[in-house]
Amino acid sequence: MVSDLHLCASRPEINRIFFEFLRGPAARAEALYILGDLFEYWAGDDDDDPFNASVLNALGALAAGGVKLYLMHGNRDFLIGERFSHACHATLLPDPTLGDFYGTPTLLMHGDTLCSDDLGYQKFRIKVRDPRYQQHFLALPLAERKRIIAGLRTENVEEKQLKSESIMDVTAATVESVLREHHYPRLIHGHTHRPALHRHVIDGHVCERWVLADWYANGSYLRCEPAGCHVVNLASA
Ligand code: MN
Repeated sequence: MVSDLHLCASRPEINRIFFEFLRGPAARAEALYILGDLFEYWAGDDDDDPFNASVLNALGALAAGGVKLYLMHGNRDFLIGERFSHACHATLLPDPTLGDFYGTPTLLMHGDTLCSDDLGYQKFRIKVRDPRYQQHFLALPLAERKRIIAGLRTENVEEKQLKSESIMDVTAATVESVLREHHYPRLIHGHTHRPALHRHVIDGHVCERWVLADWYANGSYLRCEPAGCHVVNLASA
């Protein structure tokens, strides 16, 4: 289980760790779940950038070796489509997805929908997740799409500096209602870049909430086994 790798060609050290991860621990797993923001940004499946192609090939090789590959959209790469996922033999998972891991019901999310106090972002999310908006956007020439995304990313950095720390974390009440709605599962998500294991007691049920780490300084993954989950850190960059 990984998320928030934010892969891009300009961070070769993290990319090297990622490719080693795919050839090593991931290749020995039953399945690899990527819970969003695999890429720093995604302009469309028709982007023939050689770095993107190298990631696609490495994921495809993992899947060809018999590892089930699951992809969830993040707020950066939600435009990943069927063409990309077919090409690397991945299954696109809806957010949220309720799974069963060795008998433990487990809810998988990217995590951005849990940050419901960030009204500005939630409004933006509704707009860009609209299929009509996406159709229109993907019909633009690739270079123009990349220009628009670059502009949004600059705006986003400026906005983040103005937002309070608490607004960019999950909203406790939203976490509670999501857990209640799904009958008190274990929850695994990323997005906030605040790795931790939280325990929530809701209506008398104890629910674990694992927040996955980003891959900015180094790589890590959450290994889920019959006995439970634990974090494994990869060699630092
Ligand atoms: Mn995110």
